[in-house]
Amino acid sequence: MTIGNQPSDKNQRTVPATCRTHRGCKGFCNLRLAKVNGEIVLDPHVAGCCVISLDETEARTVRDTLTEWLG
Ligand SMILES: [Zn+2]
Repeated sequence: MTIGNQPSDKNQRTVPATCRTHRGCKGFCNLRLAKVNGEIVLDPHVAGCCVISLDETEARTVRDTLTEWLG
């Protein structure tokens, strides 16, 4: 698995993030983003304990929101 913005494969990326619930150091939480059967799957900690799945419409809403906030 590749850490950072470099894709380990075209349908999976891992981004260093910060978990506000478990209070690890900044960038301690690995957030895995994957595209699986047309859905976007978010797996904080890459542990499978709380996995969020977004359909295309939901994922586009997240994308549009981040684009609005980040420019
Ligand atoms: Zn956590």
